[in-house]
Amino acid sequence: MNIHEYQAKEVLRSFGVPTGKGIAAFTVDEAVKAAESQPGPVWVVKAQIHAGGRGKGGGVKVVKSVPDVKAEAQRMLGMTLVTHQTGPAGKLVQRLYIEEGTAIAKELYLSCLVDRETSTVAFIASTEGGVNIEEVAAKTPDKIATIHVDPASGYAPFVGRRIAAALKLEGDQVKQCVKMMGQLYRAFTEKDMSLLEINPLVITKDGKLVCLDAKMNFDDNALDRHPNIKAYRDLSEEDPKEIEASKYDLSYVALDGSIGCMVNGAGLAMATMDIIKLYGMEPANFLDVGGGATKEKVTAAFKIITADPRVKGILVNIFGGIMKCDIIAEGVIAAVKEVGLQVPLVVRLEGTNVDLGKKIIKDSQLNVISADDLDDAAKKIVKAVREAA
Ligand code: GDP
Ligand code: MN
Repeated sequence: MNIHEYQAKEVLRSFGVPTGKGIAAFTVDEAVKAAESQPGPVWVVKAQIHAGGRGKGGGVKVVKSVPDVKAEAQRMLGMTLVTHQTGPAGKLVQRLYIEEGTAIAKELYLSCLVDRETSTVAFIASTEGGVNIEEVAAKTPDKIATIHVDPASGYAPFVGRRIAAALKLEGDQVKQCVKMMGQLYRAFTEKDMSLLEINPLVITKDGKLVCLDAKMNFDDNALDRHPNIKAYRDLSEEDPKEIEASKYDLSYVALDGSIGCMVNGAGLAMATMDIIKLYGMEPANFLDVGGGATKEKVTAAFKIITADPRVKGILVNIFGGIMKCDIIAEGVIAAVKEVGLQVPLVVRLEGTNVDLGKKIIKDSQLNVISADDLDDAAKKIVKAVREAA
């Protein structure tokens, strides 16, 4: 789960980490009140969306008066902000964060993540922080250092000193860094984060280390033990199809293609997506209905797929192990009867009760194209969609 910058900064402050001081605002009036409650003379108006790159897209503005805060708030609230992380559709700005301006001497980059290769928490640090970090990673990767934390001993001051060295800090800033990295590590592990990114981490003109931006990702499987974090969830930032899928405990990820997929098993779902691409089309989603899916779950999955206007054809690919083919067949038919079928549908069933499943589909008299194996199924759906177009 992702949260907003202002929420992430609340979490950081609760661990003692120095951040910019600010107030969230949902309306222009609230933005003005927030600005008036701060001393100035500089304010930063920041669009709150679950994506980075806001600065370059016009979602972060440094201003020097309350009327300017108002003008920026009017401009940003309700705008669709397009950044390199939002995709071309952009994201609607519904919340702002009004922060006291910080006088920046230097912008650094810092993040903390779970490194799967070494099975450790790792800090990534670079002296080249700010809005061009992607370019730094692409062109001068040697300017980015990785510092692993041994999970057995946990965080120790020498880790912080190594990070400080990578950031080329000196004197008192090394001390500040050692303390801050300890706080960040504690926040990361105690709150079950999967990603914590501070870009920029700045050195202010009076020599203080401050987190000026914060991006946080949490491990969904651990959210039940963090009700305070769970409460930060902003459903308006999530794909409605994914929210609907999560109600039925379906593993669903919306994609940009035109072939809707309903598959059981993550591996088979990946293979199905690959083979659709192999035959020249793109999947509209990843969907794993799971091993023990019920008829209701299959119906819900089918409805989510058909509700997507991008879907020009549907491929159902089920290997009946624990999941029985007749249950899938019944679910598909129930869903088709409820929502209708405007696009070609290819069904490939194999495994437990396959004959019964095929018979149920045949008896339904629905316009379903039956396929024998994965290859056959992918070819058939691509052909049917091309013919229908
Ligand atoms: P992002 O573009 O979504 O990552 O948004 P950030 O919060 O990182 O802001 C983008 C850039 O705005 C930062 O890299 C800074 O250069 C600038 N910025 C943000 N806050 C302040 C501030 O308080 N003072 C000044 N001078 N610049 C700021
Ligand atoms: Mn940033």
